[in-house]
Amino acid sequence: MGYRFVTLDPSDDCPGSQVADQHIVAGYDDLEAARLLADTSDLITYEFENVDDAVVKILEEDAFLPQGGELLRVTRHRIREKRALVEAGVPTTPYRVVKNQEELLTGGKSLGFPCVLKTATGGYDGKGQWVFQSMAEAEAFTELEPDREYVLEQWVPFDKEISVIAARSILGEVAVFPPTWNIHHNQILHQSIVPAPVEDGILRHAEDLARQVAERLNVRGLIAVEMFLLPDGSLWVNELAPRPHNSGHYTLDACAVSQFEQQIRALSGLPLGSSRLLTPAVMVNILGEDVDRIREQMANFPPQVKVHWYGKRESRPRRKMGHLTVMGESAEATVRRLGWMKATDNEKRS
Ligand code: AMP
Repeated sequence: MGYRFVTLDPSDDCPGSQVADQHIVAGYDDLEAARLLADTSDLITYEFENVDDAVVKILEEDAFLPQGGELLRVTRHRIREKRALVEAGVPTTPYRVVKNQEELLTGGKSLGFPCVLKTATGGYDGKGQWVFQSMAEAEAFTELEPDREYVLEQWVPFDKEISVIAARSILGEVAVFPPTWNIHHNQILHQSIVPAPVEDGILRHAEDLARQVAERLNVRGLIAVEMFLLPDGSLWVNELAPRPHNSGHYTLDACAVSQFEQQIRALSGLPLGSSRLLTPAVMVNILGEDVDRIREQMANFPPQVKVHWYGKRESRPRRKMGHLTVMGESAEATVRRLGWMKATDNEKRS
């Protein structure tokens, strides 16, 4: 797009830095580094929720941070996020705020079992989450930390998990990408399938909900809206992410404009690009444990498969190291043929 850019990250070799014009090695709470970033940049964007409040304040005051601090404050804290969704009139999973054992038990009693406890901050990919099948399990739970807040949610017997990425520009224009069906394995996103095999009316409803979130929460930039599709066809929003999202990586290969380009267009005041789907696609995550197998297979990939490696130096089990996009009408069959289909969390539960 013709821009030059500078990255800030604690690692000296993070993926973004490998293609940046300049890289600042610093923590997300380093005030001096934040001032340097502010001085160096015409426009700043984040793609990570856990940026320190004081850093955000500096970036908002001394530079142009069009996404703003408020959206970060809301989306990195599950309780604030739930409240914002409820205020915006968006359906979400019934929940209770929990700060101690007594609230856990009264919450469990009113929501019923199974239910799932999540830390209000800091959890991702299933970390900081506990499922209780019964009151006895909740009573036996001893891991509540005194100074933490939690949400207790009803367990949702969903049919599918889907997500929609919406972009809202600083001029108020909104565009949404096609909804994906997201399949998890061991609580990590395994595959995103697009178009999602769901009735048209439900897909339109999912897009409308994402648009509603973007507008009512005054989003600038991207917002990924994760939802549960219930057996009766209703949709409940589970989680928001104010940044490019793993379930939107398919847009790099399968849409007219990718989520990354859309983010930059939205924040720099350009007209939004077309989010039209050019081809059916399946995105498959490559985790640390998959790397060797994928490298061995790479020379024989069929031409409708594209591989993206993120350039992370250290590979660990469960770490996202890259992804594959399989394109075309037979994308799902290709994924099965190549042996990339893992048991889904839903299958394992039933
Ligand atoms: P989260 O960190 O909230 O996105 O949760 C991670 C994954 O756990 C989700 O993608 C779901 O597969 C599952 N999950 C989370 N909350 C619930 C719930 N209330 N009911 C059923 N499954 C859930």
